[in-house]
Amino acid sequence: MIDDVFCKIISGELSAEVVYKDDDLWVIEDIHPQAPVHLLIIPAKHFLKIEDLKKEDGLLGRALLLADKMAHDHGLGDKGYRLIINEGEDGGKLVPHFHIHLLGGKRLGPKIVE
Ligand SMILES: [Zn+2]
Repeated sequence: MIDDVFCKIISGELSAEVVYKDDDLWVIEDIHPQAPVHLLIIPAKHFLKIEDLKKEDGLLGRALLLADKMAHDHGLGDKGYRLIINEGEDGGKLVPHFHIHLLGGKRLGPKIVE
C-alpha cells in the first residue's frame, strides 16, 4: 500500500482536483484515470475499512448517494456507471483510507477483474 495520500489531501498537505466537498465527504479526480470519468468518493475523516464505518451512522449510504449524484452531474445518469470499493491487499486497495471509485464515460466491459 502507498501512503495515506487522502488524509494529506484533506489536511491540505497535498493538492488534488477537488470536484466536491462538504464536512463529511470529498470527491476528487483519480490521478490515474481508468475511464473518461474516474472520481474517488472519500470520507473527510480517516477510516481504513468498511467495518470502521459501522459507527458512522449513515455515512456509507450518503457516500453512495453522493456517488450517484456525481455520476449524474458528469452526464452519466442515462448511460450508467460503475462503483468499486477495493478492500485490503487482495482487493487491490492502494491507499489505506476508505474510498469508492466512480467510473464511467465509456462502455465498461462485463469483466470486473483481470
Ligand atoms: Zn486517511
